[in-house]
Amino acid sequence: MTDENQKDDTPTQDNDNAWASIGSAHKSINIAVADTVREAILSGRFKPGDRLTEVGLAKAFDVSRNPVREALRVLEVEGIVEINPRKGARVALLSSEEIEEIIELRAELESMSARFAARRCNDEGREELGKLLEDGNRADADGEVEVLTELNQKFHNEIAMAGKNRFLVGFMKTLHEKTQWIFANRPEFNIAENWKEHAAILRAVIEADEELASVLAKRHVEDIGKDIAKFTEVTDT
Ligand SMILES: [Zn+2]
Repeated sequence: MTDENQKDDTPTQDNDNAWASIGSAHKSINIAVADTVREAILSGRFKPGDRLTEVGLAKAFDVSRNPVREALRVLEVEGIVEINPRKGARVALLSSEEIEEIIELRAELESMSARFAARRCNDEGREELGKLLEDGNRADADGEVEVLTELNQKFHNEIAMAGKNRFLVGFMKTLHEKTQWIFANRPEFNIAENWKEHAAILRAVIEADEELASVLAKRHVEDIGKDIAKFTEVTDT
């Protein structure tokens, strides 16, 4: 890049902006910027196709443009940001093929995971899953959306751990970032409905019903996939 880019390097005095403290963090600045932008993309705050300008991000983070450029390159390698030499950077679009492939794989892995959990859950594990079920049902009944959101996320992790196959847990982790991103962009997501599906899987696992647990877990992911397929018809290029 040329010297004219240096003009934008003056830090802004935006103290109300939580991101602005990043410039003084111990962590290397480009990593901190990449972490924060990644989080915004994976949580769905930055939507597929949103423009990411170096100037805008540098201002938001109160840093110079160099670490922002570095951060965007890192996210490009990860496949969640696209950089066009003329148009600049934007949040990558989710291609429908990619979504299909990930959902297909995730459905099988979740199904396997639930089957293993139902097979291998000991008394201690059953107690833990029972507590999750109880907490979730209570939050659902009380309409505590935030608690329920947290428990919904916890659910997939607990089932994976209860399956007691470290390699399967590893594969799920590899897919986690992509699925989190896909799920965050799911339209009309119903948290209570999601919990009810999770609760049914939990009950099957606790009752050691391998077949039911695996069928319900597979259907759960496939249904999410169908919702998302409708959405990508609009955003896909
Ligand atoms: Zn789920």
